[in-house]
Amino acid sequence: MYPRKIAIIGGGIAGLAFARRYRQLGGRVSIHERRRPQPHQGLGFILLENGLKALSEIGRRSAVEAFSYPLTSCTIRDQRGNLLLEENLQSVHGVTRSAFLEALGRGLPETWTHYGQVFSHFERAPNGDARRAVFENGEAIEADLFLGCDGSQSGVRAEIFPHARISRPRICELVSVVDSDLDVARSKRRFLKIRHEAGGLALGLVPANSQTLIWYLQFDAEKYPTPPTGRTHLKDFARSLTRGWSGPAEQLIRATDFRRTYICPTRVLEPLDAYFDRNIALLGDAAHALHSFTSQGVNSAIEDAAVLAEKLAPGRAVPHSKAFLDYSETRKIAIRPLLA
Ligand SMILES: Cc1cc2nc3c(=O)[nH]c(=O)nc-3n(C[C@H](O)[C@H](O)[C@H](O)COP(=O)(O)OP(=O)(O)OC[C@H]3O[C@@H](n4cnc5c(N)ncnc54)[C@H](O)[C@@H]3O)c2cc1C
Repeated sequence: MYPRKIAIIGGGIAGLAFARRYRQLGGRVSIHERRRPQPHQGLGFILLENGLKALSEIGRRSAVEAFSYPLTSCTIRDQRGNLLLEENLQSVHGVTRSAFLEALGRGLPETWTHYGQVFSHFERAPNGDARRAVFENGEAIEADLFLGCDGSQSGVRAEIFPHARISRPRICELVSVVDSDLDVARSKRRFLKIRHEAGGLALGLVPANSQTLIWYLQFDAEKYPTPPTGRTHLKDFARSLTRGWSGPAEQLIRATDFRRTYICPTRVLEPLDAYFDRNIALLGDAAHALHSFTSQGVNSAIEDAAVLAEKLAPGRAVPHSKAFLDYSETRKIAIRPLLA
């Protein structure tokens, strides 16, 4: 059945990246996003070489590079200030999530995206295929194929793989952002990491532009029990873990607005056997929520989108069952080392 009607559930990184590439290949999609069309919330992340390469494949590398911040060096110290490593970086960029999504989505036809649609469930055809995605507001979309791009808490995944196993991760991150001209932010283009010599604790600072610094505190949740949410708890936690450290930790915590601070991940998805079921495929965190310390969540979401768009390219007229299987096998191999 060509051209296929494709509905994307979730207009985050994987969803927008797929839409971009599929459009470039001559196709069209509809995107169903639970958010309202307000500026994107969120912090930021590191784009690595594989993510930049996938952005080239979907034709958005230069658009993203216009807003991202090339990082030219990496310094690792211990908490006493001893230098452990200093090296030059290539093809590593810091970027805020808002700038990134803006660059990814710009130029997509406005009529493609439907905001305020929270996925509820699928209605099935007699052969078991999904026929319609139904949203909580009662609206629905009929399509030939559905792509679950609805993130780590994916409702699409919960419906097609209700027995997917979710566990508590041992290594967690407290992630935050500082908008200021902090001294540490001025040492532009440097990714700084401070590791505690006892292990299980590290602080990372990633400039996302000349004024914005993303920072994260990686901790072993068995050694340092995860605090409850709430800015006071998070601030006390960050302060107690980094007390007495040499370097910018204290200054950073003082400058941080802890209302924009999150613990992630709080749950980890065990590997799925396949990234699809019938005429529904999963991309990005919905398929493989990765540990944040891999810095691969965003990069791999773009790769998923680039690979699947190629497999489903309108000109190829390949049955979706084959395209989904190829996609799933290709991406599982790429993701496997990140799960170790
Ligand atoms: C605090 C934090 C810091 C991170 N730092 C990094 C980093 O440094 N490097 C990195 O590579 N990755 C990082 N990640 C992970 C990265 O953000 C994700 O891996 C990436 O966003 C995955 O893309 P995605 O498209 O699968 O999901 P998302 O980008 O989360 O998009 C999912 C979309 O689906 C929508 N949605 C959800 N549920 C529904 C529903 N029921 N109906 C309709 N729409 C729905 C959401 O609103 C969202 O727009 C971080 C994540 C967090 C939370």
